[in-house]
Amino acid sequence: MADFDLIILGAGVGGHGAALHAVACGLKTAIVEAAELGGTCINRGCIPSKALLAVAGHVREITHWGSLGITVQGVSVDRAAIAAHAASVVSKIRSDLTKSLEKLGVTIISGQGSLEPGPAVRVGSQLYTARDVIVATGSVPFVPPGISLDGTTVFTSDQAVRLESLPPKLAIIGSGYIGLEFADVYTALGCEVVMIEAMNTLMPAFDPDIARLAQRVFLKSRNIETLVGILATKITPGTPVKIELSNDTILEVDACLVATGRVPVTEGLGLSALGIDTGRRRFIPVDTRMATDYPHLWAIGDATGQMMLAHAAAAQGITAVENICGRPTHMDYRSIPAAVFTHPEMGFVGLTEPQAKQENYSVATVRAYYGGNSKAIASQETDGLVKLVYDKTQGELLGVHILGSHAADLIHEASQAIARRATVQELAKLVHVHPTYAETLDEAYKRAAASFHP
Ligand SMILES: Cc1cc2nc3c(=O)[nH]c(=O)nc-3n(C[C@H](O)[C@H](O)[C@H](O)COP(=O)(O)OP(=O)(O)OC[C@H]3O[C@@H](n4cnc5c(N)ncnc54)[C@H](O)[C@@H]3O)c2cc1C
Repeated sequence: MADFDLIILGAGVGGHGAALHAVACGLKTAIVEAAELGGTCINRGCIPSKALLAVAGHVREITHWGSLGITVQGVSVDRAAIAAHAASVVSKIRSDLTKSLEKLGVTIISGQGSLEPGPAVRVGSQLYTARDVIVATGSVPFVPPGISLDGTTVFTSDQAVRLESLPPKLAIIGSGYIGLEFADVYTALGCEVVMIEAMNTLMPAFDPDIARLAQRVFLKSRNIETLVGILATKITPGTPVKIELSNDTILEVDACLVATGRVPVTEGLGLSALGIDTGRRRFIPVDTRMATDYPHLWAIGDATGQMMLAHAAAAQGITAVENICGRPTHMDYRSIPAAVFTHPEMGFVGLTEPQAKQENYSVATVRAYYGGNSKAIASQETDGLVKLVYDKTQGELLGVHILGSHAADLIHEASQAIARRATVQELAKLVHVHPTYAETLDEAYKRAAASFHP
C-alpha cells in the first residue's frame, strides 16, 4: 500500500491550493518543500510586492489630495520602516499558510524532492510512494546572458521586494507587469526610473489600447524615460552600474532591476527518466486536466507555463485534484482574470483584440472612459478606460481590458461573464449601483449591445 494518496512537490500557492482541496476530498496528502512554505507568491512575489504597492498608493493618494481641497505638508518616507512592513506581512501570511496545512493534517516534508518511477518521490535517502503525484515546483527569475547580478546594485524581484535601498536613479529591464509595478513603487518613493524594453513596443503582452494609455498614465506623466527596441547586452554591477545597450551607448545608473520574465524550476526533478520532454523552454507539458503523459503524474502552476499567476496555479491544483478523484474537470484559461497593481490598476480577462482576430473571430470593440463616470469625476480619478472585445455576429464577450481605479476588482464581473460565455446583449440588461466605477462596464455593455438593436 502506498504511503500517501497524493504527494505534492512544492508548497507555493499552487501546491498549497492543491493540498487544501485534496484534504477536503478525503485524500491522505503530503507536501514536499525545499525552501520556505508559501513559495514565490508569499515570500518573494505577490505579497511583499503588494505591501510595497500599498505604501506607494498611499503616497500617491496624499499627493493627489490637493485636487480635492486637502493640503498635507511634509510627506516623507522611511525606507527601513516600509521594508519592515512588507517583511511582517510576508511572515504573517506564511505563518497562516503553514497553520492551515498543519491544522488540516497535511504531512509537511522538508527537503529537495525528485521523481521516481511509480510515480514516487525521493527526498534524500527516503522514498515516499503515492497513488498520485503533483509537481508544483514553480519558477525563478530569468536573467538573460550578459547580465551579472550582485544582489545589491543589479538584482531581480527576489531582492527588490526587500527594498534594501532607494537608488536615486534605477534602470528597470523589461516592461511586463513586474517591471511596471516596481516602477510604480520606486517612483512613488522618489527614485528616478529609466525603463528598457527589448521589444519594439512597451508592454507587448497587453491589449494595444491599454498599453498606449498605460504609457501616458504610468510612464510619461511620471517622467519615466523609456528606451524601446533596445537590448541591454551587458550589465556590470558596481558604482555606478554600467549598462551596455544594443545602440552602442552605455547607460550609467545607481542600480538595475532585471525584470525579464521567469523560467520554470523543472531541471533535476527526474522528468526525462519518466519520458517527459520539457523542451527548450523547460515547461512541463500538461493537458487541460493538468495531467502529464506519465500515468498518475500531474503538474500545475508556473512549472507548466500555462498562465504564470498565483490564482491560476491554485485553480490548476483544484482541477488536478478533481481529476485525481475521478471527476473530470478542465481548466478554462479564457475566464481567468489577471491584474497589475499599479496606480491606477489594470485588470484583464479573455482575449486581447489582436488575439481575437488571430483566432478568426469576427471582432468588434467598444470603449468606455472613466472621464464620463460620476464616481471617477467625484474622486478626481478620471484616467481610465474599459475596453470590450466581442464577437460581432453573436455578441459573445471575448475579452475585457480595464485600466483605472479598482480595475483589479472590477475585472471579476467580466471574468464571470466570460466563464459562462455571456453575450453583450445579456450583460447590457444587468443593473449596476449608481454612482460606481462598475458603471463604466455597464456603459460599455450597453454600447456594444446597441449594435445588435434592430
Ligand atoms: C514580484 C512578483 C509579483 C507577483 N505578483 C503577483 C500577483 O500580484 N498576482 C498573481 O497572481 N501572481 C503574482 N506573481 C506570480 C506568482 O507569484 C506565481 O505565479 C506563483 O507563485 C506560482 O505558484 P507556484 O505554486 O506554481 O510556484 P512557486 O510559488 O514558485 O512555488 C514553488 C515551490 O516549490 C519549491 N520547490 C521547487 N523545487 C522543489 C523540489 N525539487 N523539491 C521541493 N520543493 C521544491 C520552491 O522552493 C517553491 O517554494 C508575482 C510574481 C513575482 C515574482
